Amino acid sequence: MNSKNPRQIAARVLSQRLTSGEFTENLLETALATAGLAPADRGLCHELVCGVVRWQATLDRLIARKTDPARELRPALRNLLRLGLYQIFWLDRIPPHAAVHETVEQAKQAGYHTQAGLINAILRAYLRETDEIRKILADMKISQPALGWSHPGWLVEKWRRQFGEDPTRQLLEWNNTPPKTFARVNTLKTDADQLCERWRAEKVEFEAVPHDWTGAHLAFELKAYPPLPSLPSLRDGWFYLQDPSTLLAPTQLGAQPGELIWDQCAAPGGKTAFLAQLMNNAGKIVASDVDPVRLRLVKDNCARLGVTCVETVQNIDLPMPAARFDRILIDAPCSNTGVMRRRVDLRWRLSLEEIARLQKIQLGLLQQAAAKLKPGGVLVYSTCSLEPEENSATVRQFLATRTDFTLATERQLLPFAEGVDGAYVARLKHDARGSVALEAGS
Ligand code: SAM
Repeated sequence: MNSKNPRQIAARVLSQRLTSGEFTENLLETALATAGLAPADRGLCHELVCGVVRWQATLDRLIARKTDPARELRPALRNLLRLGLYQIFWLDRIPPHAAVHETVEQAKQAGYHTQAGLINAILRAYLRETDEIRKILADMKISQPALGWSHPGWLVEKWRRQFGEDPTRQLLEWNNTPPKTFARVNTLKTDADQLCERWRAEKVEFEAVPHDWTGAHLAFELKAYPPLPSLPSLRDGWFYLQDPSTLLAPTQLGAQPGELIWDQCAAPGGKTAFLAQLMNNAGKIVASDVDPVRLRLVKDNCARLGVTCVETVQNIDLPMPAARFDRILIDAPCSNTGVMRRRVDLRWRLSLEEIARLQKIQLGLLQQAAAKLKPGGVLVYSTCSLEPEENSATVRQFLATRTDFTLATERQLLPFAEGVDGAYVARLKHDARGSVALEAGS
């Protein structure tokens, strides 16, 4: 095995994940950027890391069946066992014996000569009972969905109460399915016909994905493609990679050319750029974010996409008069439970306390935005969360304190119902007369 071994890189990323606190996707991207792997090995490394993190609870249940609970397993050895079992039971293109051999060799290379025997014994024992284990794994999905689909029990219980049994199971399955890649046509630079022609020349396989909020020619699924950074059509800003669900909130804002818009939580800028497209680059969008590094991405994306009507601002405590904006988009920081299939370790980080903490921030953002809106203006509040606490409950809490706003529309996109990432969008309308009454009464 050489340093370009995708399994070794996967094991290293899995170890870093336990100590660094970084998101797995970021660690993986950094590791792959310098690894120099061939495309197939790159794919394997990606699959191993994401698969092991997603299926961690189920893999650990298998490990627990064959190890002494009184003896704690070192994290590096646990990761090797997870990797080996994942290859045996979740991947069908790797012969199981090869998976065992590679894992044992990896243990030796990592200096675990004594423990390599234990790893060999456990994995070989599993090789002898693959049919039985496959049946146990399938049954577990029905009898113990949290363990069978590798999610925290409290979250599965919460979703069961919210959505019911079957939708919850569909959601768990969705979260464990590798995400698809979607593109939005950038009509500031091209149109759907020209882009499709260019994609064909670039050997991109694609399919239009129409939704009621996108129309027929805006969103496409990219089904097979050369490495995306190498595509001239991407570099030239002819399209932006984003899930169709992210197009709902900007559409709901109804921004018109010439208006002044505030995109309050803008980074990395997917919705900002789509808003600019809807406004035909005419007017002004103030794009702000608390995170200066991420705000830089808004600038870069706008430059690439030919967006010229955006001004980026690190926070909105600028010398800015109140009641200034025609419309404001609040794409709030949230638990991200609607995009769990894209954030592989999110499920292991989340807690009810975190959701409650986020709800306070979300309410604060709504109040901050309301103070900067013109009388009669429109606020759109959106998240990529599936949790009512962060969505309808936050909006209702806001409306209880601001009777000069009314809820015009509200929509929750659910992955198992719409086949897109989860998203919540509420359109709130300010009643100019209501604000006069409020001021007179205060
Ligand atoms: N709208 C973005 C897009 O479409 O690309 C995604 C925004 S992301 C859901 C939420 C953003 O809110 C993060 O970039 C985060 O840095 C930012 N954020 C968090 N707290 C904030 C605050 N108090 N004010 C402004 N931005 C904030």
